[in-house]
Amino acid sequence: MPFDLVVRRGLVVSHDGSRRVDLGIREGRVAKVGKSLTSGAEEVDASGLVVMPGMVDAHVHLREPGMTEKEDFYSGTRAAAAGGVTTVIDMPNTVPPVATAEIFSAKLAAVSGKAHVDFGLYGMLGQDNADEVADLARLGALGLKLFMGQTTGDNHCPDDAAIFTGLRRARDAGLVVGAHAENDKVLRLLASELKASGRTDPIAHLESRPSFVEEEAIARVVTLARGAGARLHIHHLSTAAGLDLVTAARRRGQDVTCEVLVAHLLLDDSAYARFGNLIKLNPPIRPASDVAALWQGLSRGRVDVLATDHAPHTLEEQWRADVWEAPGGFIGVETMLPLMLTQVAKGRLSFSQLVRVGAWRPAQIWGFGDRKGHLGVGADADFNLVDPAVESRIEDARLHSRHPVSPYDGWPTTGAVRATYLRGVPVAKDGQVLGEPTGRFVTAARQRSTYLGAT
Ligand SMILES: [Zn+2]
Repeated sequence: MPFDLVVRRGLVVSHDGSRRVDLGIREGRVAKVGKSLTSGAEEVDASGLVVMPGMVDAHVHLREPGMTEKEDFYSGTRAAAAGGVTTVIDMPNTVPPVATAEIFSAKLAAVSGKAHVDFGLYGMLGQDNADEVADLARLGALGLKLFMGQTTGDNHCPDDAAIFTGLRRARDAGLVVGAHAENDKVLRLLASELKASGRTDPIAHLESRPSFVEEEAIARVVTLARGAGARLHIHHLSTAAGLDLVTAARRRGQDVTCEVLVAHLLLDDSAYARFGNLIKLNPPIRPASDVAALWQGLSRGRVDVLATDHAPHTLEEQWRADVWEAPGGFIGVETMLPLMLTQVAKGRLSFSQLVRVGAWRPAQIWGFGDRKGHLGVGADADFNLVDPAVESRIEDARLHSRHPVSPYDGWPTTGAVRATYLRGVPVAKDGQVLGEPTGRFVTAARQRSTYLGAT
């Protein structure tokens, strides 16, 4: 049987190396990998290009339902497709929060048919929804988000008993718990003190959430997860101290993984002077010493996941001058790959390292590594054709989010996504989104994903 598509002579990158081979694609999957494959109904000449698995952004907020004035599944996944991200995992702090099976089903129904890339959904680990966890897993939730510290939406941080109960239920259901690890009570106390002293400047936000606020929450949730026997993922880890805790827990054999954000790698606290509240983020943009520790963790294989925390808001919200009125987060799903390709060109990480943290490990951790994150036989043919040498610039005006404003406007880039394919079909070319939404709901393979450990 002939191939539907053959991608010829590209440098195909995986998490552990790269090879100049052809990819033979049939019915949306990689059917054969090798030299000089027989012809396909369609042929793509990838000479001089890098063929990367589609990025898996494990941390996005597409704001649907309930906050679609900021973004929705249509606009957010168009941004993903244009940026070479072929799978996103959407967070549950929408309105209403995804705390019950009924709300999960309603969200899935509302967003289905609108996605230009494949998507998974998180449920919430809340104060009183432990009895929903098994049903959330049955409906296909990829994990449970645990908000230990205040963020966008009306999410009350559960107390330690609720956290422990949720961790146990997640363990029983085979779900990973993903923690936003900050001590809520302490950050609120510090914020109220700073507010009372009259501070309204952007750096007051950083001062309200110092390193130890993250460190304490990571220590607590790592310990509770060990006690409950649950798999744990630390979202947007931002400090040297936090990374040390995760590394130590893994050395003891605990199943805990961690994620860093593009923003925490590319911005440090000197950026507040330039960008103000646009770069307000939870946890905050940190001093350069923390940024250096995250880069070191990435190069040593201690960081599992690179994500964006794509967190859109309206322009009016993004430009608020009072730090306490400004929302947390900003867009990033479309700029992740060009920005990180630029870091590859600078020699700060390799293509394989980028694939490892940006596609392969996330797919493993959330249980769909059989189909995503690599281009081996049987995998979904989700890939990017990347020209590693082309010089360009990020231009906010060309981004696809509903409110395209980011701190990266005007940043020079080396390396560009020429085309993005989802299950063998092009969904974007040179930053232009193609066709109607064909994204599908992604669930975990029935078999529990195995912990692969630190390298
Ligand atoms: Zn987030």
